[in-house]
This record gives sequence, C-alpha cells and structure tokens, in this order.
Amino acid sequence: MNRNKTYTIQTLGCKVNQYESESIACLLQANGFELNDSGASFAIINTCTVTQKAGMQSRQLIRQTIRNHPDALIFVTGCHAQTNPDDIQTIDGIHYIIGHAYKHEIFEQIIQLHNGFEFPDTPEIRISDILKHTKYEHMPLSHLQHRSRPTIKIQDGCNAFCSYCIVPYSRGPGRSLDEKSVLEQVKCLQSNGYQEVILSGIHLGQYGQDLKPPVQLTDLLREIINIPQCPRIRLSSIEPLEVTEDLIQLIQTKACLCNHLHISLQSGDNETLKRMNRHYTRSFFKELILTIQEQIPDIAIGIDVLVGMPGETQRSFENTLSLLEQLPAAYFHVFPFSLRKGTRAENFQEIVPYQTIKTRAKTIRLLGVQKKIEFFTRNIHAKQSVLIESSEKNYLKGLTGNYIPVKILNTALQKNGQLIPVLLTKVMGPQGMEGRFA
Ligand code: SF4
Repeated sequence: MNRNKTYTIQTLGCKVNQYESESIACLLQANGFELNDSGASFAIINTCTVTQKAGMQSRQLIRQTIRNHPDALIFVTGCHAQTNPDDIQTIDGIHYIIGHAYKHEIFEQIIQLHNGFEFPDTPEIRISDILKHTKYEHMPLSHLQHRSRPTIKIQDGCNAFCSYCIVPYSRGPGRSLDEKSVLEQVKCLQSNGYQEVILSGIHLGQYGQDLKPPVQLTDLLREIINIPQCPRIRLSSIEPLEVTEDLIQLIQTKACLCNHLHISLQSGDNETLKRMNRHYTRSFFKELILTIQEQIPDIAIGIDVLVGMPGETQRSFENTLSLLEQLPAAYFHVFPFSLRKGTRAENFQEIVPYQTIKTRAKTIRLLGVQKKIEFFTRNIHAKQSVLIESSEKNYLKGLTGNYIPVKILNTALQKNGQLIPVLLTKVMGPQGMEGRFA
C-alpha cells in the first residue's frame, strides 16, 4: 500500500512525554509529513504508566487510535509500553511496541517504512532492560505545533526509588543531556522567537550528576542565562533536597529565571515520608519553603502531595494537612496513591480505603484553591512580565513569570508569544487574575 506522508501522535502523561512527542512531530514535519487526526498513515501513541488509571487510559487510547486510523501503521511507545508490553501486545492492530531506549529512532523508522520497507504482521517489540541503560538519547526540538512555551527535556530517569513510584523502572537510571547540547537547544528555540523555555526532567535536580565531570543544575543555569537575549527560564518540578541555597539565590538575583518553583512534598508526616523512602522531614520542608518565600516574596511555590499511601492514618494525613495550611504555597498538585506492581509499596500492609483516599485528596484540593486565591491576592498591584499565549476578541491571555494566568484587556496590538509588562489589578477566582498593559 502506498502510504502518504501523514501522521498523528497521541500523548498521555508528564511534560517529558509531551516533549518527546513534540520532538518526533517536529522531525516528521521538517521532512514533509503532515498532521492528520482523522486518517493518518502513521500513528504514534505515547503512553503513561504512573498510576493504574494512566495505564488503563493508555490502553484505551491505543484502541481508539487504531479505530480512528484504520490504515495506519501503529507505534506504541512511552512508559506503559516499557513496563507492560505483554498487556499491550494483546490489543489487535499494533505494529510496533517501542521502549524508551529506542523511542528516538521512531522517526527514522517511519521514514524507512514510508520508503517501502516491510512492516511486521505481528507486533515487533523493541524493549531493552532499562535499568541497565546509561546513555542519554537526545531528542531535539526546534519549534512547537500550537504552544508558545516550549518544554525541553534535559534529564531522564531517576535513582531515588521512592517506594510508591514506578518511574525508575520505566525510565531507568538518572542520565543527563550534556551542557553543550542544552545550550544549543535553548539557543535554537530563542532564535525561533520563543520567549520562555521550561527545563524539565524526570528528576531534574539530579541533572549533571552522571556527566563527566559532574555538573550542578545551577552551573547549567548560569551558562544558560549568559546566552544573549536569553528567553526566560522556568524549572519543572524539583525535589526539596535539591533546592539549594545557590539555586534560591540565583532565582532571586537573575531576572530571566522565573520566580516559580514546583516542589514535591508528598507527605507532611515523618513516618509516612520514611515509608515513602524520602529523606527529609516535615520541619525541613517547612523551613525550606519559608526561606524561599522570605528571600523571593512574590515566588509561586507549587507543591506535589500524595495522599493515601499504605499506612497513612488519619493522624498522619492531618500532619500533612496542618503543614500545608502553614505554608505560603501558590497551588497544590494532589495525587491519590495508586498501587503499582513491582514497587516496594506493593508489599505494604494497611491499605487505605479508596473512599478515604478520595476524601483526603478532595480536602487538600480545596485547601489548594484557597491558597491559590491568597497567592493571587498578594499579587494585586504587582507589575509582572506576561507571556501572551492566546488572544480573544477583546482581551489577551498570558502567564506571568510567577505562574499567574492573566487576562489583559484592550491590548489588541500584541501578538502571541510576546512578553509584555502588565499591572495585575484583580483576582478573578482560582482561574487567574485580570491586568492591564503597564
Ligand atoms: S524522585 Fe521519587 S517520585 Fe520522583 S521519579 Fe524518582 S522515584 Fe519517582
């Protein structure tokens, strides 16, 4: 069959997965392929396995994509492909199941198939033992399909083995993109007009520890901000023990580093933290957040929280809640515990009932809404630089460096992707603030 140059990519999961999909799309487009969401010749499903639900959604998405693209060659990749190839293989209509070690080759494989290479009758599985993988496969990105704030992946894998987390088994050991390639990547996006770049990784704070010689994340940031007309730089999530005094000072003193940190707490109960295999205490975390806030008063601090870890009693949950109440956070991301096969938590006793997990998650989310509004309220009358992300008839929408979504009235002349100075005037609720060109 003659396959035309059309593709679709369906993606679930984290920023790193989104990035990798964008990178494949970018390479395909640069080689004349066109996006077709209603009948492509090549379909890629980039899956996630972080929770049971994510695994189930991944399998649903595979089936749906096969239905929507009946003539396509189907590639399934991502974390669920890496950890559960046998489950995926039972779905009819898949041609390739590709693990993380080979994900960067999908683009070349599509080119070969388009040039007439044979494809297999039964799914070809290309999965390696990711726990032994030490090489970083760079997947470059030069532009985005629809968004104005590119994320770039500079680190992959994790060595921490938190007891509840499947990620080290799906992504493998921590490994980093070398400094030179990170700088080239940022320069490329800058020369293509992007005014903000988000640095992400599976365990971003471990950046550079595997490089020879080792490099600190702050060393890399210093190099990046020396790039002439450097876009503003935002960090994706980071672990508490990796928010060093040096990093705080750098964010405090360098305008092009966004006043935004997204930090994983997971639990505010010391016993639960120990069971999670996380090596800090609630008082360390509290001290850290208060120090950051004192040094950078307008910083947005987002906090990840995991509720319902096996053994989390009502008392331990209340310890988490009371800690969160005391912190000047801007928002919370709340994750209900999900048992993953192969993790240490699989053998833990004292499973928390589903309904209790749901109630606890809801309690923290409600507190998160309150914290967000308090954070926005503290920013009334502040002047912030806003990156325009979309425009409606009478207003623009954008994001401040400190992560506040803003609606700006009467600025019809501005374009998407521009940075403009804005005076924040009003809280519109948890969805954001209103502002005017300043
Ligand atoms: S630090 Fe812990 S939670 Fe984060 S990816 Fe690594 S093992 Fe998972």
